[in-house]
This record gives sequence, structure tokens and C-alpha cells, in this order.
Amino acid sequence: NDRNLFLSRFPAAQVNRSLQAWDSADEYLINHIEEQGLINANTKVAIFNDAFGALTTNFCHSGSENAEVVCINDSYISSQGISYNIEQNSLDDSNITQLNSLDALPNDIDVILYKIPKSKAMLIEQLIQIKQSVSDNCIFIAADRAKEIHSATLKVFEKYLGTTKTSLAVKKARLVFCQFDCHINNKQVNHSPFPTVWTITHKSTNDSPSRELSVSNHANVYAREKLDIGARYFIENLPKVAANSKVIDLGCGNGVIGLTVLANQPEAHVQFIDESTMAIASAEQNIKTNLPESIENCQFILNDSLTDIEGGSVDLILCNPPFHQNTATTDHIAWQMFRDSHRVLKKGGELRIIGNRQLAYHIKLQRLFGNETLIASNNKFVTHSAIKK
Ligand code: SAM
Repeated sequence: NDRNLFLSRFPAAQVNRSLQAWDSADEYLINHIEEQGLINANTKVAIFNDAFGALTTNFCHSGSENAEVVCINDSYISSQGISYNIEQNSLDDSNITQLNSLDALPNDIDVILYKIPKSKAMLIEQLIQIKQSVSDNCIFIAADRAKEIHSATLKVFEKYLGTTKTSLAVKKARLVFCQFDCHINNKQVNHSPFPTVWTITHKSTNDSPSRELSVSNHANVYAREKLDIGARYFIENLPKVAANSKVIDLGCGNGVIGLTVLANQPEAHVQFIDESTMAIASAEQNIKTNLPESIENCQFILNDSLTDIEGGSVDLILCNPPFHQNTATTDHIAWQMFRDSHRVLKKGGELRIIGNRQLAYHIKLQRLFGNETLIASNNKFVTHSAIKK
């Protein structure tokens, strides 16, 4: 429409701000619904996976076109980014409600605008949820960069929703239109295969016998199918933790690192931190299942890195950092996590990290902490430690 919006990636201070906060798939989707007049006063719209608000800001209250909008994200950073961009553009968001990926969907949605997530598991999970919640005459339009829409992707839409057609590509983006006419009533289609559960064998560092730990993973959790090989190597090279130590599992995913710490030292206090709602829910579930006696010692925090965690308060931070944000490969999150860790550690406290060899994280640690020690390495991974002086 004729509004000019200024959109930023979030957090605003990130190093990679030259990357755009929207893509041509957002533009294509907005142009299409305007040309077709699909959204009018009182239309109820659901927007899925809007990374920084390019779609949502477009539907903020604007006089008579007062569509009611629910906006669904697994990512805490995306939901914060949407609020930030609404505020920066002085928009009225009284018609917008943000939901997380584990909230129930309203059942009276008229139009769904769906940005295709990177994870196929997440795509399947969301399509099952949509199919179970909305009526068959709901309009469904998905969008992504054309190169991300494979024939296998379209088969998923066919299988879980129904007849699927695609648009022409415009500026390397494509739209996907689905009708809710898939009446296959078998369990596979109607019943979510998530969370997935697998086990790891925990070899204790004290003399107690080894035991099986069960690890549950919601659809959008990193290493959902099996233990990440980096995490496995990291677990083999964790420091000894004293009783009552304050520990953070930073970017915890399913919480397998903090879980291992607690299995060795049930009296540690562990904060599990991640920006994914599904990760935090999985980590909490995994402590409840395996170490219910330690749950009182744990906190599960949806957060962007260590924002608002008290400075000088923690003995040990353990981190297997991410190297993507949405589809962009970036090391700004690792930088942010290391910088935040330096602030949050007590004097003498330790940051221990793992990374692929070629990421050369030790250079960052040396620069921020003035020291780093190689703890272990193999042909793929390196574990380093840095101490706050
Ligand atoms: N610790 C788990 C493991 O080792 O299997 C997961 C590690 S995975 C490489 C990195 C994790 O960081 C993901 O779970 C991701 O959701 C999380 N993450 C990404 N950006 C984040 C941020 N800004 N703040 C907190 N967590 C973040």
C-alpha cells in the first residue's frame, strides 16, 4: 500500500545490520493480497514465521481496513523484532496479537499468510496444527524465495493440507496456494510426529553407574533427530562442577548440556537459555523427566542471549553457539554470546565453548577475555575455555 515502513533486523545493535529485514517473498505476498483484495475490515488473519515484522507491520490498524491479526512465531527475537519495528514506525498495534509456537491457534481464521520455515519438521508441525484448527474455506498462501521451494516442499503441502499450486516467480520469490481438501484420515497426517524422543547413555564423572537419559525434542529444536556430534564432543569435555555452582547452558536447545551437568552434579543451579520457545519447553521437559529432583535448581528462560541477566553473577557458562539467523549465516550471535558471557561471569568464572574448527572462536575469546585455553580438539571440533580476570 502507500505506507512507507522502515524495518530493522533485530537486535538493533547487531553487527550484520546490512542484511535486510524483509525479502522479496514478503513483498510478493503483500502485493498479491492487495491486488486480490483478500483482506478487508474484520478479516481475521494469521501470520506465521514473520522474521522481523515485514508482514505484520503492514496490517497494523489503519482506519477502516481493521483486520484482526494473530502473529505466530517460535522465535523470541522475531517477536521482539516485530514489536520493535511497530514501535519505530509509530504504528497502532491494537489489532495485533502475538502468539508463540506452542499456543493454541484461534479457530476462526479467514486468511493465513505463511512464511515457509527453514526446518521441514517445523513445516509439518505447523501444517498439522493449521489443518486441525481452521475451517476448510480458510485461504492459505505460503511464500518463500523460489530456490527454497523444492518439489519435496510442495509434496508436504499436498499431503498435510490439500491441492497445492504455485505462482510464477517474481524477483526470485514464489507463492504457494493450498486448498484444505485433503481428506485422508489416517493417523500419519492428522497426528503430529513431534516431539521426537531419543536416549543418550550418561557416563557419570563420579563412581555411580552409567544411566540412560531420555531427550524429548519439539519440532523446531536443533538436533531434533539425534545428539549433535558437536554436543557429544562437548559433553565429553565438560569441567568438573562444584555443588551450588551457578551455571548457564547458553543456547540450550533441548538442554542436553545442562542435563549432563546436573546428572553429574545434582546440586548445581542451572539456567537454561534459548531464543526458541520450543527449545525452552523441551529443555524443561527433559529435566522433569530425567532429574525431577533437580527441577527446583533450574530456570528456563526465553531470552536473546544474556539480555538482562545480572552482571558478575555466574560461575560457568557452557555454549555451543549458533551460526545462523533465519537463513543468514552469521557469527554475530556467537560474538554477542561471548561478550554477554564476559559481563555475566563472576571474576574467575569460566566460559567454555565448542565450535567447528574453521570458525576459529578462540580468536574472539582471546580478544574479549585476554586469555583462552584449548581444552580438547579432534579433526572437526575444538573446545576452548576462557576465564574472566
Ligand atoms: N545446546 C544445544 C546442543 O548443543 O545441542 C543447541 C546448540 S545450537 C548450535 C544453538 C542454539 O542457540 C539453538 O538452540 C538456537 O535456538 C539458540 N539461539 C540462537 N540464537 C540465540 C540467541 N540470540 N539467544 C539465545 N539462544 C539462541
